[in-house]
Amino acid sequence: MKKQNWLVPACAVLLLGACAEEQSAEQSATEEMATAEVSGKETEEEPAEDEKATEEAVEEEEQEEEQEEEQAEAADEPSYRINPQNSKVEPIGDANEQAVLITVDDAPDTYALEMAEILNELDVPAIFFVNGHFLDTEEEKETLAKIYDMGFAIGNHTNTHVNLKQSTETVQQEEIVSLNDTVEAIIGEAPRFFRAPFGVNTEFSNALSKEQGMVRMNWTYGYDFMQGYMEEAALADIMVNAPELNSGGNLLMHDREWTKEALPEIIKGLRDKGYDFVDPDEIEGIQS
Ligand SMILES: [Zn+2]
Repeated sequence: MKKQNWLVPACAVLLLGACAEEQSAEQSATEEMATAEVSGKETEEEPAEDEKATEEAVEEEEQEEEQEEEQAEAADEPSYRINPQNSKVEPIGDANEQAVLITVDDAPDTYALEMAEILNELDVPAIFFVNGHFLDTEEEKETLAKIYDMGFAIGNHTNTHVNLKQSTETVQQEEIVSLNDTVEAIIGEAPRFFRAPFGVNTEFSNALSKEQGMVRMNWTYGYDFMQGYMEEAALADIMVNAPELNSGGNLLMHDREWTKEALPEIIKGLRDKGYDFVDPDEIEGIQS
């Protein structure tokens, strides 16, 4: 539906909302070697039952510890990386290729917390790209903490949603670094991801976001800020049937009422089409 709109150049589409001018993204890795050869074997006698039991318990514990270490190491190995050229999410090794990344920008304004609750209920990970001007009050800070505590990644979307290209380097620095400080003060860790407002990056901001340890990304497609898609049904339809939808999709959504309403349908539609959802924790960090 609304097929004709895909043919309309982005610049001709009436764009509304805070991310209104956002254009398409194309512009856009000793063990104690179970030293645990259980000691206490010097005696010829069989150890008493309770000693045996203790030994077994120790062995079990050591095995459990080893397993936990292995799992921790596996978790550190990234499964996906963001292609800096087109913002697609690419699998590393044998990670599932048919996966997309869910992102929510301009948070946490009015609907981000409800959107996080919906995604959490559906067991879908996501990145919430936040702005500092939504983190002024105690209530707003609490909202961010709640979203983070549900397990979602928090990304930097600048302090006041400025166009970085129209900002001095001093302003760009302030817009990006101050928000990292704000976020870290609230949740205890700085953002690992950066998305420039409107998808407009500069050489300076590219270097700065990298220096700040953030993976930069735009997106591959999004519709909730375009005329004709600012309501539940049309948005749910286009997000699942968009010509741009394919493996590695980096899906742009916003803190908007219609997006919140369409969210369950969008997730179901993507699942029905066989797509899995990328966990931001599995995305490769900045390569130094
Ligand atoms: Zn935005």
